[in-house]
Amino acid sequence: SIKTEYNVVTKFLICSIYKERDQFSHKGTFGHTLIIGGSYGKIGAAVLASRAALKAGSGLVSAYIPKCGYNILQASIPEVMVEVDSENELHHFNFKCNPTVIGIGPGIGTSEKTTKGLINFLKDNATPMVVDADALNIIALNKEFLNSLPKNSVLTPHPREFERLVGGWKNDYEKLEKLQSFSKEYKVIVVLKGKYSVIANGNQLYFNPTGNTALATGGSGDVLTGIITGLIAQGYDTFDAAIFGVYLHGLSAEIGMENLTEETFIASDILSYLSNAFREVK
Ligand code: AMP
Ligand code: MG
Repeated sequence: SIKTEYNVVTKFLICSIYKERDQFSHKGTFGHTLIIGGSYGKIGAAVLASRAALKAGSGLVSAYIPKCGYNILQASIPEVMVEVDSENELHHFNFKCNPTVIGIGPGIGTSEKTTKGLINFLKDNATPMVVDADALNIIALNKEFLNSLPKNSVLTPHPREFERLVGGWKNDYEKLEKLQSFSKEYKVIVVLKGKYSVIANGNQLYFNPTGNTALATGGSGDVLTGIITGLIAQGYDTFDAAIFGVYLHGLSAEIGMENLTEETFIASDILSYLSNAFREVK
């Protein structure tokens, strides 16, 4: 029998998750994020996720992207180190850096080459990952690789991506049941995104109250992937990072409404208000 624990994410919980920085810390203290993302025409997804990881506080951030994105990424964010695949779509996954955590999927597409390359990469990768977007779609078509995801990885599907992973559901109750059994079976944390995103760790479900329709805009999910990955890099427990990241992402959009509107707010604006969101929970 399934005993579900339903929880609501509160400011009190977030304040207890937040970790103050040691004054003697240095960039090495806060880990190394690797963002694997982008394809021709979607390098922006890797830019947004990499920038988000930096802004969330990752000590170092590298990006592994297709060759065609090199100048774009370097020119967009000088703080990020860039490694390129020799092809114009991700295929070899042969980066040199040694990351603490990997954020994978934003903008990668689902070409045959990228699918093969990702599957091969998943076979021997042991670094914890935040798996999003087309990486989830590729895994949904090759479900045997769900079992080889490193323990404590985080998956961040929106409802359609989650549907591809688990098949459909009849009602919200069944959806949440599938969410917890999926999380339990594959020993991964799942963030089911939506109006009230739900963060699942086996039978424990946390409902996030922050956010608004300003987040209903392209790139918003890529920013979330970067934020959660950057929090894990600097030492947050993966479940804490998922809860904290989703909360900050939504709170940034709420605070942004003091200057912008739900129409004019775009994904990169989330990062303009991330400091204000952090300040509320410090
Ligand atoms: P994606 O579909 O991958 O771009 O992710 C969209 C992100 O925006 C997720 O984190 C959603 O939870 C969030 N989001 C989208 N629409 C809303 C909404 N109406 N209210 C709150 N959050 C939203
Ligand atoms: Mg997305």
